[in-house]
Amino acid sequence: MALVIDPEADMLGVVDVQPCFMPGGALPVADGDAVVPAVNRLLAGPFAHAFATQDWHPPGHASFASAHPGRQPFESIPFPYGPQTLWPDHAIQGSAEAALHPGLDQSRIELVVRKGFRAAIDSYSAFFENDRATATGLEAWLRARGVRRLFLCGLATDYCVAFSAEDAARLGFAVVVVEDACRGIGLPLPTGGDTIAAARARLAAAGVRFCRSGDLAG
Ligand SMILES: [Zn+2]
Repeated sequence: MALVIDPEADMLGVVDVQPCFMPGGALPVADGDAVVPAVNRLLAGPFAHAFATQDWHPPGHASFASAHPGRQPFESIPFPYGPQTLWPDHAIQGSAEAALHPGLDQSRIELVVRKGFRAAIDSYSAFFENDRATATGLEAWLRARGVRRLFLCGLATDYCVAFSAEDAARLGFAVVVVEDACRGIGLPLPTGGDTIAAARARLAAAGVRFCRSGDLAG
């Protein structure tokens, strides 16, 4: 399946390529650092334009297990906007591990969307925070730029990439996930399977397509 990139209507979205989500970081995704060279190849190749997202939490953020006495990371608890998974403290604003990875080629990254900075709301998607109502502003920027199709890559497949892809599809963008430039967390689900398989099924049902870097041509 060759996909020809239109430099004006297509844009690459680089999700949360931050050291905190890589081996040695606070919330490591297995093999997460493998996305850096894969994303750099996309940025050097078919895509003329890109944006990036950056998880960006104040200390004591409500998504941190440490903010809820007696709770452990990866437990889910009810929040005013629905169930919320609790995480280890991560992506503290201004910290080195919250920076975009120093190996990431930022030359074609034209916008950085920071998310998760409201103390009481987590934010997985590049478009809306987890209350599903608070917009980041990305949609308006993409529309002003004339973008019609988004290619998404980065971390983690089953959380911030998946939520971004789902929102983008719902907003009417064509969406393609570049699978070899993503890595996932893969929490086990009580119903069997894990969050990566569940996200893939949910995205496919929403009309999101999947490709590999080798499928893309400029
Ligand atoms: Zn976070």
